Amino acid sequence: MLVRILVATAHTQGTNPSDYHYCVEGELVWIQTPCDREECGCARGFAGASSHRATTTAMVVESEMTRDDVVLAFSTSLPDGGWPLAWAEDVADDNLEIASRLPAGAIIVRNADDLFLRGALFRVPPAA
Ligand SMILES: [Zn+2]
Repeated sequence: MLVRILVATAHTQGTNPSDYHYCVEGELVWIQTPCDREECGCARGFAGASSHRATTTAMVVESEMTRDDVVLAFSTSLPDGGWPLAWAEDVADDNLEIASRLPAGAIIVRNADDLFLRGALFRVPPAA
């Protein structure tokens, strides 16, 4: 069974002039508590699990990863990035929880704790 996960995407980048995208397309993302510098922009960012960089746009995709796979991915990523390994399950479950509420292809942006639907990527199957 396919589960939905939240990953970095460049789709819709530039819709907002303050968008940024330093992540790798399709990598798992997680939501960090923003720092207190308003000009920083991290409150609008999703953190990339593999790249340890950030993007303002994330997309819901269907994946063959299981919850255990997602936990394992963050169990590697978090300590690599200097974050506590103990966060891995919570970070994984946050990712899956957000993705579970939206259809595959949904593209979201963030402002601190608020998530907003920006758009959706979908393709109509070609006529047979
Ligand atoms: Zn910041």
